[in-house]
Amino acid sequence: YALETQNRPVFPGAPDIGLLVHEIAHQWYGNSVTPRTWRDMWLNEGFATYAQWLWQEDHGGGSAQQTFDALYAGGYFPDAESNEALWAFPPAEPPDAARISATPVYWRGAMVLHKVRQTVGDDAFAALLRGWAQEHRHGNADTGEFTAYVEESAPDKDFGGIWEEWLYGEGRPARP
Ligand SMILES: [Zn+2]
Repeated sequence: YALETQNRPVFPGAPDIGLLVHEIAHQWYGNSVTPRTWRDMWLNEGFATYAQWLWQEDHGGGSAQQTFDALYAGGYFPDAESNEALWAFPPAEPPDAARISATPVYWRGAMVLHKVRQTVGDDAFAALLRGWAQEHRHGNADTGEFTAYVEESAPDKDFGGIWEEWLYGEGRPARP
């Protein structure tokens, strides 16, 4: 399988563009900024997944909002089981080590980032993504540091509901 090994990703064969974007994004989110514990895995996978959404949005595919909406509506994955798996556990609290690479860590993690983007706007969000990678360059970071970073970067906004429902909440949040 493809993996974001340090210095350069490895692929089992020629990757499609989405996979290429994902693994290259990990050079910042996951490799340079390394999770403090495996519970913080969504800081790798949510970001790398969101990088794919951004790429798609900028290159003639659906917008990140459309991807978010399809996931929330339960029609993104081809089968019902996968759509349901999205809500199995909160992205910042995988229940055990076997599930640090499960659907919520990737896709719901990306949905958390989209909620942050909706709250701060596109320009501030772009600055936030760069700033986070810069601040923790070649270091470790955890979820608490990320939420604090977001809050400090936009002190006039309220992120409490996003953390509570999207990052740490059980099940599917009541509102998209
Ligand atoms: Zn990944």
